[in-house]
Amino acid sequence: MDWTGKGCRAGASRRDFNRLAIRTLLAAGAAVTLGPRRAMAGGDGTVRTVSDGHLQLPLDFVLPGIPQAELADFRREFGLPQDGLRPECNVTLLRLPGRLVLFDAGAGPNFMPTAGKLPDNLAKAGIDPAEITDVVFTHAHPDHIWGVTDDFDEIVFPNATFRISRTEWDYWRAEETLASMPDERKAFVVGARGRLDAIEPRMALFDAGEEVLPRVEAFDAAGHTPGHMAFVVHGLDDPIMVVGDAVSNDPISFARPDWPWGADHDPARGAATRRRLLDRLAGDRARLVGFHLPGGGIGRAERQGGGYRFVREG
Ligand SMILES: [Zn+2]
Repeated sequence: MDWTGKGCRAGASRRDFNRLAIRTLLAAGAAVTLGPRRAMAGGDGTVRTVSDGHLQLPLDFVLPGIPQAELADFRREFGLPQDGLRPECNVTLLRLPGRLVLFDAGAGPNFMPTAGKLPDNLAKAGIDPAEITDVVFTHAHPDHIWGVTDDFDEIVFPNATFRISRTEWDYWRAEETLASMPDERKAFVVGARGRLDAIEPRMALFDAGEEVLPRVEAFDAAGHTPGHMAFVVHGLDDPIMVVGDAVSNDPISFARPDWPWGADHDPARGAATRRRLLDRLAGDRARLVGFHLPGGGIGRAERQGGGYRFVREG
């Protein structure tokens, strides 16, 4: 992998009502900026995360293949609760000259009651969704893409160009994807297709290795989904990698990167990708931002034992 970027191939509607409501909130002084621990500046760009809320996931969903005794030991060692995980959902916001970029769009109003808080939190941060110039997707799972439309099925980011990998786009739209998906996850396919159809007129596709935007390079991070991408942002004080769901839990993804992760479509490939990314991130002491990592999701990976540990930053 090349962190330098040299390897890149250069490359009065309801919506108005919502925007009016946001402007009213701002005018009323309701805007508060997010704390500095979630932001970092460097060069002429800033990266921060904005919360979309959190998810509630049973442990046997994310770790179905791990023997109970081994899991109990791990839970005790790291103090994990018995009743499941409660991962944060952190949407990355990148401000560059002339651009305001979101990585993923959150869950929207129809996935889980604990998620879909991005529009409220953008408003609290003083950001109008109309200012977003680009929405770059790591992948098309519900908590990452359903937030492109609101309760009225209108697009939340009216001026944005939407960008997703060609592999991910093709995967969710393929007939065999719906046919082969287990019943309990067929709604993921139907939901992804509905959102992808809604934003198709403003969709731009890219491939791994390309410069998705100036200073933003796409990295193949497949396994969680077939077209899952990570992104390296160059030109800040240090490069930072947006890892999406390729590294999705602290401590599990770090301490046991090789454990098959139940939310990965291809657990073996997901584990290999996770190990490859963490090895490089730790070796280069580069920053990462994880969609489901704690404390806003920004930090570094350090080697520890046969695995890694997450060191929060910001
Ligand atoms: Zn996912």
